[in-house]
Amino acid sequence: MLDKGVSTTTEDPQMFGHPKGLFYLFFAELWERFSFYGMRALLTLYMVQEIFKAIAERDTATAVVYASYGSLVYASTVIGGQISDKILGMRSSIFLGGILMAVGHFVLAVENDVAFFVALALIVVGNGFFKPNISTFVGALYEEGDVRKDSGFTIFYMGINIGGFVAPLLCGWLAAEYGWHYGFGLAGIGMMAGLIFFWSGIKKNVFGDKGMPPSKEIYEKQIIGIPQKTLIPIIAVLFVPVIAYLLSSWQQNYVGGIFKFIGFAVLAYLGYIMYSLDSVARKKLFMAVLITFFMTLFWGFHELSGSVITLFASRNVALDGIMSASQTNALNSMFIIILAIPISLLWGYLAKNKLNPRTPYKFGLGLLLAGASFYILSLSGASADANGMVPFTYLLVMYFIISIGELFMSPVGLSKITDLSPKNIVAFMMGVWFLSSAFAFQIVGFISEQLAIESTDANVGGIETLSVYTDGFHLIALYALGAGAIVLLFSPLMKKLMGNVH
Ligand code: GLN
Repeated sequence: MLDKGVSTTTEDPQMFGHPKGLFYLFFAELWERFSFYGMRALLTLYMVQEIFKAIAERDTATAVVYASYGSLVYASTVIGGQISDKILGMRSSIFLGGILMAVGHFVLAVENDVAFFVALALIVVGNGFFKPNISTFVGALYEEGDVRKDSGFTIFYMGINIGGFVAPLLCGWLAAEYGWHYGFGLAGIGMMAGLIFFWSGIKKNVFGDKGMPPSKEIYEKQIIGIPQKTLIPIIAVLFVPVIAYLLSSWQQNYVGGIFKFIGFAVLAYLGYIMYSLDSVARKKLFMAVLITFFMTLFWGFHELSGSVITLFASRNVALDGIMSASQTNALNSMFIIILAIPISLLWGYLAKNKLNPRTPYKFGLGLLLAGASFYILSLSGASADANGMVPFTYLLVMYFIISIGELFMSPVGLSKITDLSPKNIVAFMMGVWFLSSAFAFQIVGFISEQLAIESTDANVGGIETLSVYTDGFHLIALYALGAGAIVLLFSPLMKKLMGNVH
């Protein structure tokens, strides 16, 4: 990957050896993720302790809403990516998405159950426009084959995780000290900061001509007397109450049903696209779909951090004033920040010696590491005290290992996906890439429902709760290890099939 070519985009302004635009996207995404992860750190505990506190099945209700929210927040990126490719372009999409997300976070600061679901829906729609486009924008800053692209994505991934590290610490602290809504409010301010960074990049003209609508006529084209550039935001807002309704009907779990359908629809559409491509492009797209599938499994285990693992931390981990349960959400990002550069240097070093593993090997190893991390957590029960509290170190080690796995997969995949996709559908493919997270949240929902504790006791915890969690972690470990082993076993076959596409 790193040893691919030497062409660079030199006509755009440069900074620290990268296009200057990268640093504006870095800060815009840093703040957007600050808002996203600050809110996510509070979400599960807020539902269990506030929204559903009066019902015995509050863990189940929380699991379903969390899964539905997570699935929709990432699935909307497919539509946002598609609309950007065809009509809006990346710049307008990022603005539209950012504004909707900021409003969503501010609505969360209102203490009301209806406002809660409306806010989640605003974030779902907003993220659909923001997330795929800011990521595609990074890829667009580099010419095809530019050797700096992987490291550009690593830098970008650092930005994501600086936001993901600081936000749970601050929002978690505000929520504990002053109340939930202050924590949510701060998340909204973060999103505003992200938009300001992006806007200042445009003002300083660091993006050249990148990110404009694909065609001015289509952008301005009137439908029912309204130009598309205005109609799309209107339709996006009209979707908010529908999504809020879907999210609030947790007993029916409509989103779970919709997802089974979306899975087939996306596969059929991709099949159709693949059919119409030449053989090299087809191989590339097939590879992109395959790595997206592996990524789904990984996120299915990894994204448990915002749900079951946060509950486990609040009920069964001896945090002893080190941090609050919501603040433990910062640990994954902390390790990513520490490890991202060493691991990216490792790929560079291996590439120089022609030893850089092909993507499927990295993905297989990533899944094995996810398995190992849950295995460690499943062992924590042996060191529990009489109240069923386990040492914090287990959680720390678990996050350390899974974060290495994440770095073997997520930034590598992010960069690969922009390489492997046909140019005219690259934002759509970025959306498909994020579908891995969308489907993963259904896995998260399923697992979280299995590990739900039925009780109206606000202080639920103790030895029995602990064994539900540790048995669950043991099973998760086995599945993840099995998946990793299968991917590794099939990697040589993929090499044969795919030749130099990897
Ligand atoms: N942590 C990464 C991000 O926030 C990846 C998240 C995901 O795709 N599930 O961008």
